[in-house]
Amino acid sequence: MKSKVFFTDLKVRKDFENTLSKIRRLFDAAGFESLIDKNELTAIKLHFGERGNEGFISPVHVRQVVDKARNCGANPFLTDTNTLYSGSRRNAVDHLTTAIEHGFGYEVTRAPLVIADGLDGNNFHEVAIAGNHFDKVKIASSIADSHSMIVMSHFKGHELAGFGGAIKNLAMGCAAVPGKMEQHAGLHPEVDPDSCIGCGRCVETCIYEALEISESIASVRHEKCIGCGECMLVCPVKAIDFNQERDAEKFIEMMTEYALGAVTGKQKKVGYMNFLVNITPECDCAPWSDIPLVPDIGILASIDPVAIDAASLYLVNQQHGIVHSKLHSNFEIGEDKFKGVWENSAGNHQLDYGEKIGLGSRDYELIKI
Ligand code: SF4
Ligand code: SF4
Repeated sequence: MKSKVFFTDLKVRKDFENTLSKIRRLFDAAGFESLIDKNELTAIKLHFGERGNEGFISPVHVRQVVDKARNCGANPFLTDTNTLYSGSRRNAVDHLTTAIEHGFGYEVTRAPLVIADGLDGNNFHEVAIAGNHFDKVKIASSIADSHSMIVMSHFKGHELAGFGGAIKNLAMGCAAVPGKMEQHAGLHPEVDPDSCIGCGRCVETCIYEALEISESIASVRHEKCIGCGECMLVCPVKAIDFNQERDAEKFIEMMTEYALGAVTGKQKKVGYMNFLVNITPECDCAPWSDIPLVPDIGILASIDPVAIDAASLYLVNQQHGIVHSKLHSNFEIGEDKFKGVWENSAGNHQLDYGEKIGLGSRDYELIKI
């Protein structure tokens, strides 16, 4: 049977319905009320955005879901996990400060904030899964302990995963820091000496001291590198890359197994909303946003993380690419927009592998509300 994915665009028609009302209707249409029981601790899984980024989901939109969860009798809380790399979300204190600076304080969202893997990212439960790469994964304690969960994802590009949506939000987003390390373990960046201009940005960014510069060319000290990919993101001339052919599929498979771990034990307790707005080339971990690749599309809701990401990818690729964005090819309707930025990425593998390991189904029915 096809998984149902509910969709609303953002147009205001003759009835003048606004986006806040549409979010509440999506929650109802997707049957999220049946996922949440009275007195439950309901995690609303978000990405609060790195300081300097503006692409994250609006706190005012998040409040609609908080109110809905509270109407079900639950105790909702907003949550995310600490990062592997330098930045404004590396520990719970910095992370909470950034979240509040971005408007996620109680006065806007009406829900408390919990950093799910604790002060330093090391609070986790090991969850057993039957994966090909892992037999147990390290899921942030407050997410593992929650009774139900609504995963709200800003859908956008990602330099390694191809795109970031529900699967990535579950995988990297629900893992404690040691779990993020496990997912990145197979990645080995290399510097192209012919492209490197010796600016040193990568060296300044890498908190693992895994880069050095000699004779104005950077190189990676592989014994120290944990494969977080931060250096790739900051290099102004794209001189650093992974061996995508060798590494990308394995990374995606490990990530997708972590997504499975994040929902293990929560059968029929997790709902997903993907926001197809500000569809930027990079994820919200970047301390900037960029010109979106395509126009704003709308919002989707489902109880199937593979189906909602498959539908999101389809809708993005049905748009014309925006001129002057980071797209260098694939501007036409039907062409893969994320490959138009990250040509060697393998985003589709998230969907194939997610289906293979039982995370969800690629076969969906798109229902416009
Ligand atoms: S060198 Fe390795 S650890 Fe350092 S930023 Fe790059 S990927 Fe991360
Ligand atoms: S950021 Fe890029 S260009 Fe600058 S030193 Fe590092 S590899 Fe070279």
